[in-house]
Parts: sequence; C-alpha cells; structure tokens
Amino acid sequence: MRVQTQTRSFDCADSSHCELPTPLRMTKCLESVQNMFPFKLVYSDAYYLPIGEHVFPAEKYRRIRDRLISSHIAEATDFLEPEPATDQDILLVHKPEYVHKLKTGTLSPREQMELEVPFSPELVKAFWLAAGGSIMAARQCLSDKVCISIGGGFHHAFPDHGEGFCMIHDVAVAIRRLQRDDKIRTAMTLDCDVHQGNGTAAIFAGTRTESVPLPSVSSSTLSTGTATKTKMRGTHAGEVFTISLHQHNNYPLYKPPSSIDVDLPDGCHDGDYLAWLDNAISSGLRQFEPDLLCYIAGADPYREDQLGGLALTIEGLKKRDELVFRVARARDIPVMVTYAGGYARNIEDTVTIHCNTVIAAQEVFA
Ligand SMILES: [Zn+2]
Repeated sequence: MRVQTQTRSFDCADSSHCELPTPLRMTKCLESVQNMFPFKLVYSDAYYLPIGEHVFPAEKYRRIRDRLISSHIAEATDFLEPEPATDQDILLVHKPEYVHKLKTGTLSPREQMELEVPFSPELVKAFWLAAGGSIMAARQCLSDKVCISIGGGFHHAFPDHGEGFCMIHDVAVAIRRLQRDDKIRTAMTLDCDVHQGNGTAAIFAGTRTESVPLPSVSSSTLSTGTATKTKMRGTHAGEVFTISLHQHNNYPLYKPPSSIDVDLPDGCHDGDYLAWLDNAISSGLRQFEPDLLCYIAGADPYREDQLGGLALTIEGLKKRDELVFRVARARDIPVMVTYAGGYARNIEDTVTIHCNTVIAAQEVFA
C-alpha cells in the first residue's frame, strides 16, 4: 500500500540504522512512532452520511480511521469522539428558518434538489455531528497546535440553504463558536478543495472592511501557459479571512468572492499548484494575522478525481499538506483540518490522500 511507504514505521524495516532483529525492531520503532503522535484526531462512526449509492463515498471516514490504525500511523487512544453541535451553535451561522426546515423535514423539493444528497432526519444528525467535530478540532488545536477531524469541510453550505452535498457549514460554525467563547478573535480559512468555497465566502463576506490589490505571482515560478489564465483577487478581511484555491471551470458556477480566490486552469499540475498555494498563503498572511487557521484539505484536486479537473498527484497533494503545516508551525498559528471532497475513481486513492494529511501533520509537528 502506498501509504505505508511514507510512514516512519515502514522505514524501520531498514536494518542499516537499527541493530535489533527485524520483528523486535519493527515493534520497538512502531512503539516510538506511536508515542510520538503529537496531536489528536477527531472521529466518530456516526460521521457516516446515510445517502445510499452516491458519488460521495460516505464510507471514506471509517476507511481512513481503519487505515490509520492498521498501518500503525495512529492508535485508538489518538482519537477523540465528538458530540453533536447544539442548535445554538448551528444558529451562530445558519438562519432560523433554514434550521427549522431541517429539524422538521420541511425543505421544499427545490431545496432538497440543491442539496444533491437525499434528505433524511438521520442526515441532519450526521451534519450536526460534523459541526460538533469541527468545534472540537478547533478547540483542541489551540493547545496542541494542530488537530484533524476525519470529516467535515462542508464548504458549500450557506446561512439559508445547503447545496453541493453540504447541509451545514461545520467550519463556519466552529469559528463562530470559538469567537463567541472568546477563544479566538480572528480566523483564516484555507480551502484547497477543487471546488470553490462559495458558502465560506458568502458567510464571511460581511466581515470585510476594505479592498486592496494582491501582489501577482511571478510568472518565472510557473510553467508556461498557466500564469495568464490564473487570477487572484483580494480584499482585506475583518474577523475572518477566506482563501480558496480551486478549478475555475467547475462547480459552483457563481463564485462569490473570497478574500483571496485562485482560479486555477484545467489540468493544473503539482508544481504550478504549489507555487500558487505558496503565494496565496504568503499574501494572506501579509495582510492578516489569524488566531486560528482552518485548513480544508479536499482530496479532489487529484488527477483521478471524478468531479475534479486538476492534475495533482498523490505525492503533490502530500506536499500541499506539508506546505500548509510548515507555514502554520513556523508562524505558530494553530491549525484545524477538515476533509471536504474526494471522489477518486478508486476510493483507496481518496483514503490514501486523506491519510497522508495525517502523516504530513505528524512529520511537521513531531
Ligand atoms: Zn470538492
């Protein structure tokens, strides 16, 4: 399995740096890796979305957890079980009318269609839990520097409606809850899902105070053909600064402006993507000092994704994660991670990409 080749536990099979017999060497080294696991993972079996046969692989959450454990990347004690968000938490972001419709099962047929997942009371519970998981991850990262929720990232949910498989904006709920509790004042969202974070942009649009142009990326750092097609636009934010890197020619059709949007061309490869990511983070952090970084680590920029048109490799996506974590660590910004989309033709690739996010964090924060 590809994921195993990237773990330090697998490296320990190399006898060149270890005198112990192989079985003992593996055991001892695995113990040291497990003891070193430097942060918590938030997960519940109830993250599963009861949506039946669907392009969204709802079973990916459990598969990620199982892979992390079977590959000895994490163990059961590294996981925290979240509680559902309260209705009060949800109402910090979402309109009372919308929440009422969800709780009473009275969405209109059009609203159900926009959601693009079949409505059920069980699905409502799963989204309340995802929001609770993001609140827990946001709180936990303030003390541990990083925390990953093996779920969440439902960035297409708006205050008054859901769309694109997203009913409740769990990340926005977490930010508003921590602000309400005076745990943080400011936050930055960094959305690396292949689809633009339209819900995030809409929810936090009201916190902007003024607009300024962004410095452009040097075309010398990019291969030919992409610089002219890629654009960035920027605004100063107030309490929450939003960054989205996404494929321009993809859902959503209308993209409300984030603080920084990077509209990537079709087929964008690792090198160009990482250069734009580096530039977007640097530009954002020149303008804004967040108390919390919310990294939305979608797996769908992957070249084998069914709903994406970028061309990142599994290795490139791990470098993406490493870049984000290195910046957060260097600047001492707590980072909470959610997983958003991932629709690879082979679900095992999606699981590998998401597991690699955990490994990248482990390597950077060890
Ligand atoms: Zn997506």
